Amino acid sequence: MFDINALVRKNIRSLVPYSSARDEYKGGEAIFLDANENPFNAPLNRYPDPRQVTLKEKISAIKKVPPAGIFLGNGSDEAIDLLIRAFCEPGTDNIISIKPTYGMYRVCADINQVECREALLTQEFQLDIPALLNLADERSKLLFLCSPNNPTSNCLNREDLLLLMKSFPGLVILDEAYIDFSASDSLITQLQNFSNLVILQTFSKAWGMAGIRLGMAFASPEIITILNHIKYPYNVNILTQRTALEHLRDTTVKDSWIRMILEQREWLRTALMNFTFVRDILPSDANFLMVKFDHSGEVLAFLTARKIIVRDKSKVPLCEGCLRITIGSPEENKLLIGTLQEYSRQRSSVINKF
Ligand code: PMP
Repeated sequence: MFDINALVRKNIRSLVPYSSARDEYKGGEAIFLDANENPFNAPLNRYPDPRQVTLKEKISAIKKVPPAGIFLGNGSDEAIDLLIRAFCEPGTDNIISIKPTYGMYRVCADINQVECREALLTQEFQLDIPALLNLADERSKLLFLCSPNNPTSNCLNREDLLLLMKSFPGLVILDEAYIDFSASDSLITQLQNFSNLVILQTFSKAWGMAGIRLGMAFASPEIITILNHIKYPYNVNILTQRTALEHLRDTTVKDSWIRMILEQREWLRTALMNFTFVRDILPSDANFLMVKFDHSGEVLAFLTARKIIVRDKSKVPLCEGCLRITIGSPEENKLLIGTLQEYSRQRSSVINKF
């Protein structure tokens, strides 16, 4: 049986967390003279609910995870940082991850002076299980996986993920930031089977709220309690909690955005494949396409000069010559294709001169 107490850092295990004024009184409406707030400028004068009770109840109903199994943070980036701080002893412990993947696992590890060991994905952008397990030793506390993966845009094989949940001795963190755009189901239902599993999701993608900074971690109540003990007391502000609640009332809007983005993903893929200078497009389960160009540097410069900003991934292992292109609105996508047609014309006129 997995023992979370054996994994958590000693100082965190014995930590007496900060108890805020809003944590201590739970009797509802009252005259609040306990938190040195300004009595004027309601409702912004009050500190937000540090436990985000109402918001977690709403998320719980949507995700079918009990509120005690939900952590909310300032983006899922906060959960990534807190997991490393709670479980990895600086200068001693390490985390395991894959290459290429989302950059923040390594950055958070580096900031916390925790070694990040990465196993290269296979040529099919799948997990190399023996290589991953070979990297692990008794100081490996966390395994970060991302599915659908950023930047390769594909889902990792479900059987491989389940195998790692069974065999990795530490926590397996599965980042599902892009899961709403995928044909594969979330592994959130596996929380019942694996007490070492943490699922990360976010309001920044399908829900269209990157600006409010709200991310979710789902895990056993024991793991969530540890994260809650070390977070800033008021890590999710009043405006964010309110805005999220308003947008959670009607999930059909989010669903219609997902449908449109998926339609546009197919439209963009077909339009891009018509260009002779597009060599390949990786199969995508996310809201972006990884596109391999003949001269990616030239395409990047051409688009940037016309104020169309895409992400250069050409130096990333396994992604040589690739640009990462987010699926925009229909108008934005048409403009992108129009601009690439212009690039194509200029290129062929230059080639014809020689
Ligand atoms: N995970 C992945 C895989 C991401 O690509 C991103 C952001 N691009 C995040 C997490 C961060 O999400 P958030 O906005 O919730 O911090």
